[in-house]
Parts: sequence; C-alpha cells; structure tokens
Amino acid sequence: VAELPPVDLSSMNEQQRAAVTAPGGVVCVVAGPGSGKTRVIVHRVAHLIQTGTDPRTILLVTFTNKAAAEMKSRLQLLVQEPLAKLVMAGTFHSVCARFLRRHARDVGLSSNFSIIDTEDVKALLKRVIQELKDTKWPKGKPRDVIEVRTCMQEISKWKNQNVTPQEARVQLQKKTAQHYEKHNMAHAADVFEAYERNLRASNLLDFDDLMLFGLRLFRTNERVLAPYTQALVDEFQDTNKLQFSMAETMFRTVHNITVVGDPDQSIYGFRFAEPTSFKRIQEIDPARTTVISLIQNYRSTNSVLRLARTVISSKSNAESLELFTENGDGVPATFLQAQDPDEEARVIAYEIMRLVRNCNLKFSDFAILVRVNAMTRAIETALASYQLPYRMVGGLRFFDRKEIRDCVALLRLVSNPSDFISFERVANVPKRGVGDSSISKIIDEALMYRTNPLGLIMEHDRVTGMNVNAWTSLQTFCELLLDCRMRHMSGKLNVRDMLHTILTRIGYFAHLEATEPDDYKTRIENVNELLAIAARFDAEGLSAAEVVSLSTQRDANQAQAQATTQSATTPNPAAAAPEAPAKKLTLKEKTAQKARQSALYRSAVAMTMHGSGRSISEFAELVSLQSSTDSAETADAIVVSTLHAAKGLEWACVFLPGVEEMMLPHYMAVSTDNPESIAEEKRLLYVGVTRSQFFVYLSACTSRYTGAGHVVYPDLSRFLSSIVDSPRLPKSLPFINDDVKSALQKVVKRHGDHAAPSSSVSDASLRAIRNSSFVLRESDESEIVNPDLTKVLALARAAARSAARS
Ligand code: ATP
Ligand code: MG
Repeated sequence: VAELPPVDLSSMNEQQRAAVTAPGGVVCVVAGPGSGKTRVIVHRVAHLIQTGTDPRTILLVTFTNKAAAEMKSRLQLLVQEPLAKLVMAGTFHSVCARFLRRHARDVGLSSNFSIIDTEDVKALLKRVIQELKDTKWPKGKPRDVIEVRTCMQEISKWKNQNVTPQEARVQLQKKTAQHYEKHNMAHAADVFEAYERNLRASNLLDFDDLMLFGLRLFRTNERVLAPYTQALVDEFQDTNKLQFSMAETMFRTVHNITVVGDPDQSIYGFRFAEPTSFKRIQEIDPARTTVISLIQNYRSTNSVLRLARTVISSKSNAESLELFTENGDGVPATFLQAQDPDEEARVIAYEIMRLVRNCNLKFSDFAILVRVNAMTRAIETALASYQLPYRMVGGLRFFDRKEIRDCVALLRLVSNPSDFISFERVANVPKRGVGDSSISKIIDEALMYRTNPLGLIMEHDRVTGMNVNAWTSLQTFCELLLDCRMRHMSGKLNVRDMLHTILTRIGYFAHLEATEPDDYKTRIENVNELLAIAARFDAEGLSAAEVVSLSTQRDANQAQAQATTQSATTPNPAAAAPEAPAKKLTLKEKTAQKARQSALYRSAVAMTMHGSGRSISEFAELVSLQSSTDSAETADAIVVSTLHAAKGLEWACVFLPGVEEMMLPHYMAVSTDNPESIAEEKRLLYVGVTRSQFFVYLSACTSRYTGAGHVVYPDLSRFLSSIVDSPRLPKSLPFINDDVKSALQKVVKRHGDHAAPSSSVSDASLRAIRNSSFVLRESDESEIVNPDLTKVLALARAAARSAARS
C-alpha cells in the first residue's frame, strides 16, 4: 500500500476534492446529475486505500450490479490490482447475500439457501393462495378474487417495513372496511403468513429477505461488520426504510459512512424509497457530519441542462443548487411528433444511423429510454429491420429466458433440495408424465413429512394416483441430481460439467428441439452460453457483476449476429436418448432399491462443499441476483432500457419516446391522483434528460394501439407544456456542421471503450434501408447532413407501407 502513487486530485474541483479527502464520520454529498458524485465516491475509495486503509475493510454499495461493476472497473484504473478487487462492492442485495452465505447459521438459515426472484415469488403465491382456498378459507368472497399481484405488492411493502405476518394481521383489522373491500386484502395476512412459512420450510429467500436477514445479522452479530472501517453508498436518494436501517447499522459498527445522491432523481418511491434519507443520516451524528454540494456539471451541454431545469422546475429539494457547465451550448433538444409508435421508432433508427455516419459516434453512444417495457416492441422491430445492433436492458433478459430459467432451476435443486419452486419448474421437463396435480401432491406430502420433494421421492412410497412410469422416471431424475450433488460437493464435478451432465442425461436439448421447433437453435445457443459462463466461473471465479456483463455482452453479439448467420451448435443426439420404460420389480428388488435410494439421498444432502472448487450455491446465487434494475453497456450496441434502469449512466445521445399523457406520466400515477406519484414521473423524465451528454430527442405519438386493440389519441405529456409551446413539428433534424462535430467531440468522453470496435453503419443496414424504400442515398450528402423532417416522416410511412405489403 505504501508504494501506491497518490490519487491524482488535480482533475477535481474544490468541492469534489473536499469530498474525496473528508475525514471520517458521515460524509454526505448531495448534488445534481453529472456533477461527479459517482466519480467522487470512486476516488474516495482510492484515496482511502492510498492513505493506508485496508481495501478488505471497505464496503461499497450501489443499486445495480451494473453500477457496481462500473465502479470496480473505474477503481481499477486508479488503484492497482489486486487491491481494487479486495473491496467488497455490490448491491445491497448481493452484499447481504455474501454475508448471509458466510454467517447463515447466526440468523437461523442454512448456508445453501436459494434466492427466488419475482417470477418465483408469483408461482409460490399462487400455490399458497390455492392451498388456503382448499383448506383455511371459507367459501365465498372475497377469497375468490384475491390477486397474486396485489398480494405480492402488499407483502413486499410489509417486509420492507419490517412488519411480521402477525403485525400485518393487526394492521389489517384496524383498516377501514372500505379498504378491505376495495383491495380484497382482508385475507392478505393469511397469505403472508403461509408464504413465509413456505419460504422457511424450503430454505428460500426472496429479495426482501436478503435485506431483512442481512439487517438482522448485522444487528445481532456485531463481529460480522467489525472488521470493516468504511462504508460508501451511491444513489442514496433511492434507499428505502430497510436499506436506510442497513446504512445506519453499518455506520454504528463501521463508524464511517459516505453517502452520495440527488433527491431530484429519486425514482424508486414505488419500491418504498424514503425521500427523507439524506436528512435522517445527517442527524445520526451531527458532530461528525460533513455535507458537501457539487455545482459543476461535467456531463452535459448547456442545452441539455436548460431542458432538464425546465422539466424539474419546481425543485423538490430547496437546498440543491443550480448546476452550471463549461461544456458549451451544444445543440437544442429536438422534439418529434410521430403518427404512431412504429413511425416514431423508424425515425429514431434513421436518426441514429445519420448521427453514426456524420458525427463519428459509436452505437454505444445511443440510448433509447422508455417508461414501460412494452414500448420496446416497436423500437426493437425498427432497429432489427435496419440491422442496427442493440441491447435490451431490463426486458426479457438472458436470465429470464425459459431455457436459462430451466437450467438455473436444475442447479438450484441440486444445491438446495428443499427448493420446491425449482422442483415445480423442472419436475416434468422434459415430459415425464408427471401432471401438475401430481407435482402439487408431491410438494404437499414432502412438507407434511418434513422432507423435501427429492427426499419424498427417494425415501417414500409413490404418491397416490401417480402413474408408475412417471414415478420411476422421477426417481431416476432425482438420483441423477443427488449423484451430481455428491460428486460436486466432494470436488470431483465442477458447475459447468455438472450442468452439462444433467442436461444431456435428461435429454434437455432434444426436448428443446421438439417443443420449440422455431427457435430451438437460439435457445440451445443460450444454454451453451450459460455453460460457458459456468466454465469461466469454475476457472477464475467471476463476480456477480461480471456474470451480468458476460450475459449482456452475448445479447449484443447475438443481436448483431442475428441478421448474418444462424450457426447453432447441434446437440449430440445420442446423448438425448429417452429413458426406457420402467420394468416390473419384485418386492425384494423394490426394497433394495428403496434402501439404496434412501442412502444416496441421505448422504447427498448431508454433504457440504469439500475441495477447492467454487460452489454451486454461489453460482446459482450470482444468477438469481440479476434483478431487473440491472443495466449494461459493454459491446458496441444501442442501449434500449427503461428509464429506471438508466440511472447513473450517460450517453452522447438519448431518445425519450412516448412523452405523452398516460405514458409519462404513466396512467398508474395519473389514476392514483396522488401529487407525489406525478412528481415521481416528472423526476423520471428528469433522470432521462440528464443521461445525455449532447443530443436529446423527445418524442410523442398522435395515435397508439392499446393492449385491447383499440386506437387511442394521446395528448402531449403535461411535462412538455412548458417546453413545446405549440406542438408544431420542427422543420428539420439537428443540423450537423463542423461546429457541432467539434463541440460534440469535446463533451463526449467514453469510459473503458478500448475494446469496443468502432461503429459504422454496415452495408447490410444500408441495403435493408434501401430495400424498405427508406432511402438514404450516399450520393446526396446534403440530405444526410440536414434532412428535412417531413421528408423523413414521409419515408418512414412509405417504409411502413412496404413492410406491410411484403
Ligand atoms: P448522476 O447523478 O447522474 O449519477 P454523478 O453526479 O454521479 O451523476 P458522474 O457520473 O460521477 O456524475 O460524473 C459525470 C461525468 O462527469 C462523468 O463522465 C465523469 O467522469 C465526469 N466528471 C466528473 N467530475 C469531473 C472532473 N472534475 N473533471 C472531469 N470530468 C469529470
Ligand atoms: Mg452517479
């Protein structure tokens, strides 16, 4: 450590320097977008290490895995390896998961717990509600209409407020009858209670549990955090009550905490973020608190900042100061009005190509940020039809795909045989003749006998009503999983080989081919990719963030490759032979088999990790923690993301489509009639605008299809009224001359882009455009440099017509 060169503070302004070098206690940086908060936090870590703090005693917490990865890579530029890697960096959830894995017993968990995500939670709630309907609840309303979704929200709210099922019951009884009726929530406490019981019985944790148990661990067991000396939290405005308590607890043991954020960018109210976090943290230890504000914006041009200021006009926190920038004026924001989302998307695609060609930008300099996932359909179609590489963030991500979820469920079941959510998913994949009702019965009986599905199948008699062949093939399946577990735990089978063995032995590849004839090749490619990720995990120990970026990188590659070749690795058909039908066993044989199975089960579950290999629970955890707030930008691709997932990031050019009433503000916010919900929507637009370094495009459609197939004619968003006086179309897209190009060059800084290839609009893209009569003639440069917008719109319409014809 002594040999480390001092962190270069010369490139920082005075306030930034003060924040980087502030003494301990509570250091609070409250400042607007692009003012260098994240940069400060990274430099502070580097400075701490350089001045003698052991990197292993630093906790660095952010909200998304992507942000954590970004911070680590920025840190690596400042602090030499291996020091940077020693910092405990991650999201609140992943940090908690890591501590819990190590100290599970201290909070009554066993260390091979699995983490379930939103989809799993829904599946579990559905089961729980059905179970309650069958047993506890009387016939009649309101039980018939209790909704999984509402329950999920309510339960999460309770858990985030640290409310137990018993307390929830009392709360509900106090609520007015009207509230009961309106949401049919009278029975929600029953669901909550049964849900919790099921989680604990199956050794499962949901995302909220990670926080709850993490907090419990930190509070009851001081020695867990005792070795740490510094905690740092980015995006502090979005901490909820639980996360705040976590930060507070960290401070009490660690004694030093740095928090940075911007109240105007608080967009997680729906995840119970508490707007008062900043104020409260300053009150914990006022004598040792330093508050710093930053007022220079280094990200954007004046035009971008002016637009941002107009959007947020009524400041939600009076303290925040006006930002200024030395980045010049740039170009004014562009407002586009399109006929419908398809036209809007085509014009966006066109504009991206134009800027790439004329301004020497990379595809990764562009982001299209949407309010809701459903909006990406039109955008994806347009980008794909012009063969522009793009990456979806927060949509159907790699880890949400069916085949990947199947694989992860298999791994989770090996790691945690009590994980009946995973059992439910794969018990009949590929088809073993096991129906839904049999799966339910197996789970019910397993819970009744205080065992798990694998234990029941290995040690007990066939569940009544189940077909013999189906039962036998389930037994073979369980034996395979347990055998893999044994070999893995004793260090003889790594995660990659285990997954491969299981998939081939159960005939999974053939199953994909048979059930997904249209796109089984892509799906097999995805599985192969997961195997590759597992192999790297085995070999070098990937971190959660690295797993994400690997998976998203491959998304980008795939988007690029889609148009060219479809080369999938064909599975080995011999490996996928279906299982032979069960042969009749004598009683003696049966008894011997049962004894053998039981012995296998007992020794397999009793095993814990031996040897030096990395454990499967760790791998399953990495994969399960890829929450939907994640975002990514690695290879050279346009980013299509939700506004929520875009926070903290920056691009040269940002498109904000669908700035309409009912879209932004979203109708959920409008219908609540709650000013705070509308204010949050406004902050979302603010976050969107302030992601831009140079170009901002706001757009709206004059018509839109609803999910029900009707056409609606949305009004312009109320947030635009102060920006666009009359919704008239500008005559042209921004004029690209040399002044603009050099101004752009000055502002656009690209972090870590050394590996990314430089972009060009490929010949294939140009051909695709010509073919669709959306003409971009190379000969007519003036048209490309300064296109007439009405012409572009006309071309987009023509393209739509020709697409419809073909
Ligand atoms: P947000 O609120 O959006 O998260 P932020 O306050 O965290 O923004 P950063 O992402 O840290 O801002 O910084 C914005 C950009 O400005 C980054 O590209 C960063 O490298 C750059 N930057 C910050 N401070 C300086 C500085 N002193 N000199 C040069 N560039 C800077
Ligand atoms: Mg930031």
